[in-house]
Amino acid sequence: MQYDYDDQNIFAKILRGEIPNTTVFENDNALAFEDIQSQAPVHVLVIPKGPYVSIDHFARDASIEEQADFFAAVAAVCDKTGVEQGFRAIANSRTHGVQEVPHFHLHIIGGAQLGRMLPAD
Ligand code: 5GP
Repeated sequence: MQYDYDDQNIFAKILRGEIPNTTVFENDNALAFEDIQSQAPVHVLVIPKGPYVSIDHFARDASIEEQADFFAAVAAVCDKTGVEQGFRAIANSRTHGVQEVPHFHLHIIGGAQLGRMLPAD
């Protein structure tokens, strides 16, 4: 699998400070910020600072330090946003996953009862 990172994507611009964001948490290798089109009371995007296109790219090629900082950011977001009653974490990936921004991001969505992700059998 070839991963071609486009450094003109909107999250790359956010990381370079070219576009503003509402930061929830940041560490050396990850940034978490509010989604601009919130789908729920809590809707935060957690992204690595490195140039990874998708979750599988990140899982394959990111260093242990990058992966640790990414999941530390996920934990910090869960603490800060008060989603004790639960949340949904989604990583849309490439075409079939309907990924709009080609920089790996994990949606953390919660703060209210969500519907089923897929219809029940
Ligand atoms: P995807 O469909 O790629 O999983 O999700 C991309 C997400 O990025 C969407 O939920 C969209 O609202 C969010 N988004 C797109 N552009 C911006 C932006 O400029 N700032 C922020 N904070 N979120 C954005």
